[in-house]
Amino acid sequence: MGMRRPVVAGNWKMHGSRASNEVLLGELGERVKPEWQVGVAVFPPYVYLADAVRMLEEADIDVGAQDVCVHPVGAFTGQVAASMLKDVGCRYVIVGHSERRRLYHDDDTLVARKFGAVLSVGLTPVLCLGETLEEHEAERTEAVVARQLDAVTAMNGVKSLGAALIAYEPVWAIGTGRTATPEQAQAVHAYVRHRIHRQDAKISAEVRILYGGSVKASNAAELFSMPDVDGGLVGGASLSADEFLQIIAAAAVRN
Ligand code: PEP
Repeated sequence: MGMRRPVVAGNWKMHGSRASNEVLLGELGERVKPEWQVGVAVFPPYVYLADAVRMLEEADIDVGAQDVCVHPVGAFTGQVAASMLKDVGCRYVIVGHSERRRLYHDDDTLVARKFGAVLSVGLTPVLCLGETLEEHEAERTEAVVARQLDAVTAMNGVKSLGAALIAYEPVWAIGTGRTATPEQAQAVHAYVRHRIHRQDAKISAEVRILYGGSVKASNAAELFSMPDVDGGLVGGASLSADEFLQIIAAAAVRN
């Protein structure tokens, strides 16, 4: 593949402590090798972001946030602005994670606005797309990811994807131990790329599409061997240094 440098991102969700973060980031910082040519990022909870940036100062690992407020500043108790995430040293922000869509009512429009808020401060949105089990069984996967993607391009323009990462995360595979087969992932990634291609061939060729959903050391290599799978968004397995490092190494092999 070569053209699209793979990215492996670790979404910690609501896990971690000062003590455990120090151990995990210390190990990652020592053991991730720049010559692997894999973009590596971790996504700790908000309160640990500044610490994580400091702990990774010497490392070739970026830090991102799991969510963001759509507003730039103001009376929004409990919220965090994109400019603040930039201020503390984040590079990435996840938008539209299925847990946010399902548990906190982040709908397509809100996700598109969050995507725009992240871009507006010069950070990189990681846009999550994915169908539920019910939608999967009803064979509505393509319709669902198209709707989720189109909401973002309609509001922000297709060119905005040139400054973003996409993550395809079938909801039925997140935290369930049930991974999409490499062929299933490839088919949806190719569909997403094709849909972008209809609007902009260059952007479609360049945008990285990560797979997420029970990625582990044992299945990462076969997933990353697929031509349109440009790395992974990893939840549970990103909390173990050994597992996460093996997944990063699996992405390096495809270079
Ligand atoms: C995720 O939360 O984005 C995710 C893919 O989780 P897991 O790897 O645990 O399925």
